[in-house]
Amino acid sequence: MLEYRILSSNGYNIYKVKFEGKGKDLKVFCSCPAGKKGGKFCKHISGLINKDTTNLVEPSDKIEALDDILQGSSLLSTNENFVNKKGKNWFVYNGVKICNIDDLYNYLIKIINDKTMIKYNKETKNIGLFKAEYFSNGNPKYPAKNKITLMEYSDDLNWFRIDRQPYTYFAHAGQKFIEGIEKALRDIYKKV
Ligand SMILES: [Zn+2]
Repeated sequence: MLEYRILSSNGYNIYKVKFEGKGKDLKVFCSCPAGKKGGKFCKHISGLINKDTTNLVEPSDKIEALDDILQGSSLLSTNENFVNKKGKNWFVYNGVKICNIDDLYNYLIKIINDKTMIKYNKETKNIGLFKAEYFSNGNPKYPAKNKITLMEYSDDLNWFRIDRQPYTYFAHAGQKFIEGIEKALRDIYKKV
């Protein structure tokens, strides 16, 4: 068995990637959310197969040790497919290319109206939408009761998480996700 520790992209977690067996019997597990959700393959596994040691932390086995056990394993072709697909992890919506949460924010500020406010926390990578309410000096108020939705983007998953009380759901970053947000906004604008 070979074991590697990898720092998550936000720097808060360490994921363990374990390789068991060899060649066509080789199995791999990652403790990241994508791996745990039943996905057999994730970017941490891919990174190791590609010999990317950027986020590797000690104690970890030597990366060269993988060469031997990977020979004849189907993980090599799985990795190839994964790498090819990764470059396409963006979409165009209403003429706007959306690759990450910055793009999503830039898109959303264009489509919201003065009945809603948007708050973007770059550090935690989340965007909140609120019903507009202002202090008498014109500064925005962000009371929890005015929260419409909270969106989070996870690099590890390449997913958006949208929390729209009382529902929380994950969505692959894509067309459907923005359609969902726009529908939510339309519902709100009808009511306000
Ligand atoms: Zn992983």
